[in-house]
Amino acid sequence: MKLHDRCQKVTGMIRVIRDAGIYPYFRPISRSWGTEVECAGKRLVMIGSNDYLGLSHDARVKEASAQAIYRMGTGPGGSRFLSGNMVLHQTLEERLAAFVGKKRAVLHVTGFSTNLGALGCLLTPSDYVLCDRENHASIFAGLGGTKRMGTFAHNDAPSAARKIASEMGKPDFDGQVLLITEGIFSMSGDVAVMDELAELKKQYPDMLLYLDDAHGLGVLGANGRGTAEHFGVTEQTDFIMGTFSKAFASIGGFVASDHTDVLDYIQHQSRTQIFSAALPAACTTAALTCIDILEAEPERVERLRANTRRMRQGYKDIGLRFSESIAPIIPITIGSDEKAFMFAQELFERGIFALPAIYPAVPRGQALIRTACMSTHEDRQMDFVLEVMDEMARKYRIRIQDQDGDQP
Ligand code: PMP
Repeated sequence: MKLHDRCQKVTGMIRVIRDAGIYPYFRPISRSWGTEVECAGKRLVMIGSNDYLGLSHDARVKEASAQAIYRMGTGPGGSRFLSGNMVLHQTLEERLAAFVGKKRAVLHVTGFSTNLGALGCLLTPSDYVLCDRENHASIFAGLGGTKRMGTFAHNDAPSAARKIASEMGKPDFDGQVLLITEGIFSMSGDVAVMDELAELKKQYPDMLLYLDDAHGLGVLGANGRGTAEHFGVTEQTDFIMGTFSKAFASIGGFVASDHTDVLDYIQHQSRTQIFSAALPAACTTAALTCIDILEAEPERVERLRANTRRMRQGYKDIGLRFSESIAPIIPITIGSDEKAFMFAQELFERGIFALPAIYPAVPRGQALIRTACMSTHEDRQMDFVLEVMDEMARKYRIRIQDQDGDQP
């Protein structure tokens, strides 16, 4: 198919949605207060952000980042390998490693580039990579050159065990198995069965376990140390990857491990590390300050949990459909893509910012509105969201008790 025809397939669809006045994406936000934003002249309650601890607007994080700019400038001036390496980077790596309970950590400029660069280093053509079917796009992107790859049924350790046994049973197999999962799945909010996955290491001691904890960091475990900590499997988890674009109020990513030789190798071989500029001082400092705050104020994580419990109970009382979890990500099942677009548009008009996820991000006919709690959400904001959701759930007939209808 020619380039323009290929583009037309996508842009034609977007035009139809735009013309219907229900296109929800790329909304330009002109001002943010964290739990509220200004968009198209309206002030809205934000329930779609990954800034789970609300630290993007913490005065200490902002001030420390501003000071870092005065001291180090706005841009890094080069890759870390060459002229962009800062004491701040090394300090952050040490703090991150200690925070997640590993010996060493290596930074990258985003979470996506961490997975891309680190996974690219970990695998040889003879290794077997096994992914949860719902793993994030950056993980699959990082496996580009892999020859032997399989997926297991979402959050299903026995399914993973069967795949490993079958691959290892092949006469030509002489590589290593790398199993990759997310900690909290970004769309569904499901928490990985890390205890069961770690248990597989008893049967397959050579298996390496890689945890993408983008959404678990700052959220699960004592003081928000993440999903491995939550399950008490930090030791069995070979690689813990995280990003600063969620609870750490910044951008940037890292991978941490006790396999310090492998991390040295990643630092010198990761293409997204070597051939990309270093993390700017302001972003590095924001993440460092978040660790300080998390260590000093564990009640922030507790407050996030309390808000999450409250919203989950509120949604349940309304009769909304969503999967059980302890995660702050609560995706509400709507139905068709069109209905989800209309629902999101009306939420916007009523003062709520939340976005739909449609096919192929979710199965066909199961489009959802992804909502997410923050520890800084106030009671009045949560009450407002629940009140609007209640009215709209009846109107759009999306409650469990309305199962038969599909018309707004
Ligand atoms: N992994 C997961 C599970 C994610 O959800 C995301 C971002 N949504 C990433 C990696 C990429 O992180 P970043 O936004 O920092 O590039």
